Formats: sequence, C-alpha cells, structure tokens
Amino acid sequence: QKVLLSVKNLKKYYEIPQGLFKEKITVKAVDDINFTIKKGETFALVGESGCGKSTTGRTILKLTEPTDGKIIFDGNDISTLPYKQMRTLRNRMQMVFQDPYASLNPKKTVREILIEPLRVHKKFDNVTRLEKVKSILEIVGLSEYHLDRYPHEFSGGQRQRIGIARAVILQPDFIIADEPVSALDVSVQSQVINLMLELQREFELTYLFISHDLSVIQHMTDRVAVMYLGKIVEIAKTEDLFTNPKHPYTKALLSAVPITHPKEKKERIILKGDVPSPANPPSGCTFHPRCSFALDICKKQAPITTEYSNSHSVNCHLYTEFKEETTHAINHS
Ligand code: SF4
Ligand code: MG
Repeated sequence: QKVLLSVKNLKKYYEIPQGLFKEKITVKAVDDINFTIKKGETFALVGESGCGKSTTGRTILKLTEPTDGKIIFDGNDISTLPYKQMRTLRNRMQMVFQDPYASLNPKKTVREILIEPLRVHKKFDNVTRLEKVKSILEIVGLSEYHLDRYPHEFSGGQRQRIGIARAVILQPDFIIADEPVSALDVSVQSQVINLMLELQREFELTYLFISHDLSVIQHMTDRVAVMYLGKIVEIAKTEDLFTNPKHPYTKALLSAVPITHPKEKKERIILKGDVPSPANPPSGCTFHPRCSFALDICKKQAPITTEYSNSHSVNCHLYTEFKEETTHAINHS
C-alpha cells in the first residue's frame, strides 16, 4: 500500500511569556513525532486534551508553521513548499472541524458556503458549480431544498454534514477530521461516522482522525497513534492496540472505556495526578510521575521508540534494552 503522508521529526514549539517578568518559555506542543499514513487508511491520533493532537493536524495542513521536521504529502515535502505550489496541494488536503457552528460562516447560505471553494480553486462555470453543489448536498444526506438556508437553521448533525460537504467538494485525497463528532449527540454521532465511512469508500479518501474518544476510534480506524504531552508513545493497528496495548499510558486510557471483545478481563487503572503542564514537562519519560511501572531510569532518561513488532511501536523503557531493570519491573507487576 502506497504511503500518502509521512511525518518526520515534526516539532511545533511555542514561546509564551510567563510569570511576573514575562520571561519567554518554550512550550513543546508537538515534540519530534513520526508516523506515516497509507493511501485509503484511517489513521487515528488519540490522547487527552492538550496532548498536541490538534496542533499536529493544523501543522500538517500548514494552518500553523512547523518549528522543524518534514511533512511529505504524496512525494512532496510541504514543509518547505512555496505558497503557490502549496495552494495547489491544499485542494487535495481538507479539514473537518469539531464545531461546525464555529467553522461555518453564519452570514452565508449553504449555497455560498459550498460554492466558495469551487470558485477559489476550480475553473467551473456557474451551471457546473451549482450542479456540483447540489450533488454533494445529496451525497451528504441533504438536498437542494437546503441551498438557501443559513447554518443556524440546521441541527448539529446537519451542520456537520455541511462541514463535510465543504471538505469533500474539491474531491480531496486526504481529510483531517478533528473531533468531528465530539460536539454531537451520541445518537447522531454514528450517522455522521457512517457518512464519513461511505464517503471514504466512494471517493477513496484517506483520513487522519483526531479524537479523545476511544470507542469511536475502535469503530472506525485502521491504525492508532497515542499521544502524551506532545509525543507519540505508541502506534499500532487498531485491533492490536485495543487487545494488546503496550505502553502504560495506553493501558490506562483503555482501562477506562468499555471495550468489545477484550482478550482478558481488565482492571481499571487509575492514573496518578493530572496531565502535567507542557510548559514544564517532567524529566526523562514525561509520563513517569503518573506511571505505575516507572523504573529509576525513567526519571533520568527519555525512552527511545522501539518496534515491538513490525506494525507496533512503543516509546517506553520497558521495551528497550534495559533488560535488568525491565526484568525487575516485570517481577513487580
Ligand atoms: Fe512508565 Fe518508564 Fe515506560 Fe515511561 S518509560 S511509560 S515511566 S515504564
Ligand atoms: Mg483539540
């Protein structure tokens, strides 16, 4: 399977003023992450709020500039691409946002909202444009009857359908969906997810699906990357991640949700304390203050990412060469 997107050593750092003297400190919102997404795949980024998953999505689309690293989309390194070429590529990469109400202009009708990308990016005449708009509305489960209505006249689920229509109208290859169903009622969530899956089949879309909701991720994604404090701590096929999680943080996240077909009965793992501030992350493995498997080395040294199997990688000392201490930790678990 062909790789569509490859993210290499991506970093997004912010300088923010802090304290009485407004000293500048560096916040590592995304800190040296690596992953690839294959064509046609649905790849998930999961983690608690503030872990850097939205920033990752926005950086890939260059809605914000990366601090360092490469973003290679279909063979083009877009981290260095000039604006004009980036514009052409951007047609092929679109975004669906969490809150369609905030992302749709309240003063524009559905017709205007959907025609705009066509006007900016395609050389269609008026008749063709309108045909495209009508057909995309139908595809997302609305109709031409809705053309001259405003966003506030729709339900949350319908508004997200409009947001999705706007994303797919240029027939992109790749869509980043950032918590696309989190703002919706549970009963509407599955309808919108099913629509996204249908569109994926119909238009051969590749998704980066950003969510904190593990049950949604289990239902619709092929592979998952788990993020914690700006780093990816584990990547695996969705099924492997849910049945055989390796990283202590993943295990804790999974223990908190009802999972279908668990291999073994799991015990709820309560994480100690809160997520630390990304402005002042703990030393070594940044998860160590909350980790019940922490070794002495974890406080001093950040773990490297190792391949547990060829489709499963994990960033934790328990899976690296610190055999002595690893054995010690396993004996205690
Ligand atoms: Fe826990 Fe150490 Fe692994 Fe970090 S490296 S997750 S602290 S065992
Ligand atoms: Mg977010």
